[in-house]
This record gives sequence, C-alpha cells and structure tokens, in this order.
Amino acid sequence: MLRKLRHEPTVSPMRMNVLVTGGAGFIGSHLCDRLVQSGYHVVCVDNLYTGSVENIRPLLNHPAFTFIEHDIREPLEIAGSVQRIFNLACPASPPHYQRDPIGTMRTCVLGVYNMLELAKEKGARILQASTSEIYGDPEVHPQRESYVGHVNATGPRACYDEGKRAAEALFFDYQRVHGVQIKVARIFNTYGPRMMENDGRVVSNFIVQALRGDAITIYGEGSQTRSFCYVDDLVEGLIRLMESGREITGPINLGNPIEVTVEEIARRILAQTHSQSTLRHLPLPQDDPKRRKPSIERAFSALGWKPRVDLDHGLKATIGYFALKLFSSDAERSAPRRAKAPQRATALRSLQQGAPA
Ligand code: NAD
Ligand code: UDP
Repeated sequence: MLRKLRHEPTVSPMRMNVLVTGGAGFIGSHLCDRLVQSGYHVVCVDNLYTGSVENIRPLLNHPAFTFIEHDIREPLEIAGSVQRIFNLACPASPPHYQRDPIGTMRTCVLGVYNMLELAKEKGARILQASTSEIYGDPEVHPQRESYVGHVNATGPRACYDEGKRAAEALFFDYQRVHGVQIKVARIFNTYGPRMMENDGRVVSNFIVQALRGDAITIYGEGSQTRSFCYVDDLVEGLIRLMESGREITGPINLGNPIEVTVEEIARRILAQTHSQSTLRHLPLPQDDPKRRKPSIERAFSALGWKPRVDLDHGLKATIGYFALKLFSSDAERSAPRRAKAPQRATALRSLQQGAPA
C-alpha cells in the first residue's frame, strides 16, 4: 500500500507540463510517446545532434506535444509553468560522444547547469539520465549504486564518463543548496526500435550488419559482457522514478541484470535473422569496460520496478524495426526519385512555427 501511494503523481498528469530534453533521440522519443499517451503535455527539446524528427513525427500534430529545436548548452526560456524535466539530452553512443568530446562535456556540464537553473526557476522536479559509465571499467561486480567507480579521467571516454559524473555532482549540489527536487537514474545499456542505423552501439550495429549480410564487427575477443534492457522497460523505470516520493533522489540503477557476452549477442542476432554473416574481430577500443551488470535491488525496493522484456523478445522487436527501415530505404533508392528535400524543409518550417515563443 505504501509503495502504491509513493508512486502516485502529486499533480494530475492532465495538468502537468513536462519537458523532455533529448526527446527526439532513441530513449527520449519513446518517453515522449508514453507521457503523451498518459495525459501529460510534453515539450520536447532537442538540437537533433543524434536525434531525428522522424522519431517524433507521429506526435507532431498532437495537441499535447510541442517540439523546440534548441541546444541545452544555451539557456532555455519557457513561458508558463513546468512541473517536470527529464534531462536526456546527450549523445550516448561512444563514436558519437567522442566525435565532439568538448561539445559532449559542455552538454553534460553547461547543459545540465542550464536545466537545473530552469528547474529552480520553475520549481520543477528534474530527472537526470545518468549512466552505468559512472562506474567506468568496474572492479566490483555487479555494480551497486554505492560503488564509486573506476574511471580513467584522461581517456577518450572521459568526456562522457566524467561529464556525467560532474552532472550528478551538480544535481546533488542543486538539491543541497537550492532545494531542487532531483532524481538521478543510472541507465545501463538500453536497446530497441529507433536506435539509429549508424548509431555505432553493439545491438544496432550487429542487427544492421546481419540484415545486410555484412561481417559482424566484434571488438576484441567478444568475451566482454553487457546487460541489455529493452527500451519500454527503461521508460517505465524513468517514469516511476520521476513520480516517486520526494525522499527518493537516487542514484538508482535502471537496467536488465541478465548479463551476456558480446559474442553471445552476435550469435543470438545471427540466429534470429537467419543471416549468413561471418564474425570479424577488430581491436577493442581503449577503456572498453570488461564486465557490466547492474544490481537493481534499489530500483525494486524503492520503485517496485524490474524489467519484463527478455532479450529474445526485445531483439525480435528491434530486428523487425530495422528490417522494415532497411527494406523501405532500399525500395526508395530503387524507385524513381521524388521531391524529398522540399518536403523535409516544409515539415521543419511547420515545426518551428508550432514552437512556443
Ligand atoms: P540518443 O543519442 O539517441 O539521444 C540523445 C538525444 O539528445 C538526441 O536526440 C540528441 O540530438 C540530443 N542532444 C544531444 N546533445 C544535445 C544538446 N546539447 N542539446 C539538446 N539536445 C541534445 O541517445 P539515447 O540512447 O536515447 O540516450 C538518451 C540519454 O540516456 C542520454 O543522456 C544518455 O547518456 C543516457 N543513457 C543512455 C543509455 C543507452 O544505452 N541508450 C545508457 C546510459 C545512459
Ligand atoms: N561492440 C562490438 N562491436 C560493435 C560495437 C560495439 O563488439 O560493432 C562492443 C563494444 O566494444 C562494447 C560492447 O560491444 O564492449 C558494447 O558497446 P556499446 O557501444 O553498445 O556500448 P558501451 O560500450 O557504451 O557499453
């Protein structure tokens, strides 16, 4: 009974204005879907660095949804009230966050500072999408929230790992100094439909390679492990955390504790796609964590949350998404050329016109 009461929103969803930064990205767009379906008014903020308007296209004409193209490294002015801020804006895939490492660090620190200032100004509750990278290449297994981590502060992953650590520090200081209501979710590897084809993360890479019949690129021996959470489970965890009692700040691990090797992921994807792709071993990137698995005891006891979708079902849905996407883009390429660019420009123009002042 106590747990049920804890999860009940303090304001009716119908009256809540929720800001989702990074809302046009992979996880953010699923979160926007769920929030709109649940009766919230959602303002999605994104600079489209790794996100895409395609991910939110079905929401664009919804009266409870607004898109603002904006970079959170700049202060954001929003008219009217905001009750909740989900801060997801940040590239998440190693090749993308390393493409502009200084930009990534600025998003993690300046961007988070701007969003915390907004939360302070509006009296809003704010949730940070933190990460298992906080633990670096962990020496403790599985990883509990009390583990302080093993991060290389000067390596190529540091822009993200140390940036996200600084973001957590800022969150807790805004709570202590300004009384801002904070929530920190440490998200472990999440996968599902709407990952980008060229995202660079393991699940999307392997599925695209398998469907195209290209070699599967295994970095290192493939014996390193990850624990993969399906995006619907993750979104449920994020919403439960946001609507948990004020005393629950986190950090709370959100992830699926079933651990698999990278080679095992490749084999499962090959089996499900009936692909003839071969395995190709490439060098392991620097500082690539060897093992990763969340302890989710805290999420279960505080939020009553645990993942429900098993890996094979999640992979099936993700493979279905990519098969459709690759098949339709191949079909488009072979069809007579249509006037695509003007259509895209019109769509973007109407988006900008729809954005609030
Ligand atoms: P994603 O790259 O698909 O989404 C990130 C979104 O943020 C994109 O739409 C991008 O355009 C936007 N963005 C980036 N920098 C921005 C900026 N400065 N201003 C405004 N928008 C900006 O990644 P994702 O997998 O959906 O990850 C979402 C969040 O969850 C990230 O903060 C990431 O660190 C965190 N996370 C994800 C995972 C995972 O496995 N997917 C794991 C741990 C943490
Ligand atoms: N990986 C791989 N081949 C790829 C992409 C990734 O073997 O084409 C490995 C990568 O080295 C890491 C694991 O898969 O050990 C997960 O990588 P991802 O980039 O998905 O996430 P992260 O390293 O951030 O956990």
